[in-house]
Amino acid sequence: MQKPKIVILGAGYGGMITASQLTKKLGVNDAHITLVNKHNYHYQTTWLHEAAAGTLHQDRVRMLISDVLDMNRVNLVVDTVVEIKPDENRVVLEKDELEYDYLVVSLGFETATFGITGLEENAFSITSIDSSRRIRDHIEYQFARYHDEDERKDELLTIVVGGAGFTGIEFVGELTARIPELCQEYDIPREKVRLINIEAAPTALPGFDKELVEYGMNLLESRGVEFKIDTMIKEVTENSVIVGSGEEIKAGTVVWTGGVKANAIVENSGFETNRSKVPVRDDMRAPGYDNVFVIGDCALVMNPENDRPYPPTAQIAIQEAYTVANNLKALLKGGSLKAFKYDNKGTVASLGGREAIGIVFGDHKLYGSTASAMKKIIDNRYLLLLGGPGLVLKKGKLNLLG
Ligand code: FAD
Repeated sequence: MQKPKIVILGAGYGGMITASQLTKKLGVNDAHITLVNKHNYHYQTTWLHEAAAGTLHQDRVRMLISDVLDMNRVNLVVDTVVEIKPDENRVVLEKDELEYDYLVVSLGFETATFGITGLEENAFSITSIDSSRRIRDHIEYQFARYHDEDERKDELLTIVVGGAGFTGIEFVGELTARIPELCQEYDIPREKVRLINIEAAPTALPGFDKELVEYGMNLLESRGVEFKIDTMIKEVTENSVIVGSGEEIKAGTVVWTGGVKANAIVENSGFETNRSKVPVRDDMRAPGYDNVFVIGDCALVMNPENDRPYPPTAQIAIQEAYTVANNLKALLKGGSLKAFKYDNKGTVASLGGREAIGIVFGDHKLYGSTASAMKKIIDNRYLLLLGGPGLVLKKGKLNLLG
């Protein structure tokens, strides 16, 4: 008898944990597990801003999938998903097609531009190893150009970051650590460099604890960040950002961190969507499809406490993956499907160097180096879940106070 085919799309947090859990929960003869991913490596999306700023090399952020998962149990297909045909139990890839009995969609996010003119064409965004490497190289190139050109244009050294949510603030924090190094390398006085963070909401980190936000903003301002809060970006041109008041800010680099949406493949494949995501049932299955699970940034899960969707995070993607692995086992071997229940372990945002802010264990506020150490513990915990102590030693952030 043929083994049931489980196909997992995307090797991010959700896909990797699902695959690794399935190899533990299912026997060799229970199912044939296939993981499809664009690359032969897995990257930690939550570290991409460090690669983009140049404070962490991209090879620290990524790892070969074959080094982490049991390749005797998981068939890795390195290819790009083009479309899912859920009524035919088929997935169309760029180079091939796959049939499945059970599908897990964990294809992550893409940038939301909210229709801002010129944003897509002229701004970078932090979405992958490749995009992060491009940002790092571009910023460095601007420093090199400035130094090399007869008529030195200060605007080459202006970096605008659109969005002061978690990604924006963390990226800006890393840049404040990187800019002094670049200044030294290219013999440029620090005061020539402008780092501007623009946010449309009335505060940075909207929805986060006010006291922590104030701490974070003061710290970043003391490192030279200019905040433009309550300020809409109207347009991005080749060399500038135009804000709502009409002011034009000339800039050599514009990075947009102001919004994400689910990978468009889910919407384009005909799944029911709400705000670009699939409003999954309690057990993480897509409405109308009993053999399709959707997790991570592609799934919409409501917080019963405030009737609003949970924000897309690695933390929730990982927890959803555990539920899905459990539910797949129940479908294959008998047992009841579990409803997903989010266990919020807190939020910590790094501010670059040895600084961070966060709330953990319910309402416990953390600042400075304690928060920064906690952030590293969270990162290491994921590696422990995925690949055990060996992976922590190989890829972890072991110097908690460094
Ligand atoms: P991902 O981890 O993004 O994985 C998706 C995978 O699918 C990728 O490997 C991708 O290559 C692959 N893929 C995409 N399209 C295709 C295709 N067409 N074909 C084949 N493969 C494809 N969350 C936190 O909890 N804490 C944080 O501190 C935090 N910091 C963040 C910092 C940054 C800079 C960013 C960008 C995000 C951060 N997040 C954080 C959010 C978190 O990273 C995401 O919510 C999380 O990665 C979602 O996991 P996922 O499995 O859905 O998708």
